Amino acid sequence: MLNPKEIQDLRNQHLGPSLSLSYEKPVYIVRGTGQYLFDADGTKYLDCVNNIQHVGHSHPRIISAARKQQEKLNTNTRYLDDTIVLYAENITNTLPSGLDVCFFTNSGSESNDLALRLARNFTKSKQTIVLDSAYHGHLSSLIEISPYKHAGPGGTGAPDFVHTIPVPDPYRGKYRGPKCTENYVQEVQRAINTIQSQNLRPSAFIVEAIMGCGGQILLPPSFLSDAFKLVQRAGGVCIADEVQIGFGRVGSHFWGFETHNVVPDIVTMGKPMGNGHPLSAVVTTREIAHAFDNGMEYFNSFGGNPVSCAIGQAVLDIIRDENLQANALDVGSHLLIQLNTLKSKHDLIGDVRGAGLFVGIELVKDRNTLEPAYEEVDYIINKMKDKGLLLSKDGPNHNVIKIKPPLVFTKENVDFLIKQLDETLESRKL
Ligand code: PMP
Repeated sequence: MLNPKEIQDLRNQHLGPSLSLSYEKPVYIVRGTGQYLFDADGTKYLDCVNNIQHVGHSHPRIISAARKQQEKLNTNTRYLDDTIVLYAENITNTLPSGLDVCFFTNSGSESNDLALRLARNFTKSKQTIVLDSAYHGHLSSLIEISPYKHAGPGGTGAPDFVHTIPVPDPYRGKYRGPKCTENYVQEVQRAINTIQSQNLRPSAFIVEAIMGCGGQILLPPSFLSDAFKLVQRAGGVCIADEVQIGFGRVGSHFWGFETHNVVPDIVTMGKPMGNGHPLSAVVTTREIAHAFDNGMEYFNSFGGNPVSCAIGQAVLDIIRDENLQANALDVGSHLLIQLNTLKSKHDLIGDVRGAGLFVGIELVKDRNTLEPAYEEVDYIINKMKDKGLLLSKDGPNHNVIKIKPPLVFTKENVDFLIKQLDETLESRKL
């Protein structure tokens, strides 16, 4: 087995230098089970952040489903196969009626790129409305619509067909207070007006119902339903990016958009869908899917292969059999209560927000000016790692601690996390 220094040397030699490692002293994880990870020295970590391993690391039913199908057959979508159709039926059964047609892909980025193609083909327009700070993927088409990337270091800004709405962040956004929803909705209307003034129509409004990379932002009530209505009325389609928040993570509902009582035209999913296996999908209406059948075949070498679909089906079965959505609600509610108690004790905590097991803690140097406490976030994340808990950070100011563990997380895990966080915040004051 290589030692950490040898691995870092080989990374430097053979991997792209724009790949980053977490923590001042990176961890060398060699094994995982449930919500726990173990490093090469046998140190156990409580995983508070890996949302991809949704039903837990190395879940035996996932391993068994993959092995069984791999032993039997793995091909592609050009042969009759029961795995893909039954899985597609089961995925669409989790969605509102009308969202009936699946396209299988291999990453969240591929799903969002395909969603843009579906929308652009359907509307014959490229005009795209996005939220500031949003991230939708790493493909060229998605850097264009992701302010998180194109407006950050190394970025070259938004192309002229991309219209950016200020982050509808009730805590530090451009508009705050009881009337803020109306103001953000007006921004969407302004973007539509700009598009229409060029004799064009909106193609898509793409949005995460709870923003992940944007800093675990809960959109203000009724923003999404009002914005969807405006976009759809102007002839655009609404894309819900569920890559981070889907599959029961938000607790109260299976899909994040459902917390806003809206029905998108296109839903994209990924990350947790294969519990780490590269499986993702786009689900849309029959009308949009049929318009896309314009003579150009859609083929994807790996997307929808029998092994991927068997794994995806196992994920759905485990979420149901282990009541993981209910667990996300129960344990997530406990987490939010405990974090709010910590907030009353530590001024550094400016805001605590989230739904189910998708939670953010925003740290500020001053609760009035909201000056971001990003050095403190780094201190806390590294200290917590030394105490055996893995966390990460995000948001445009790098001052939001993210908590989005595998859904098998327990209340005892929460209590341990809170105790260690409390001690770490205290130690910061010394
Ligand atoms: N959409 C969202 C909301 C994401 O958070 C991500 C990944 N962080 C993506 C899309 C892209 O997914 P992938 O990395 O699987 O391409």
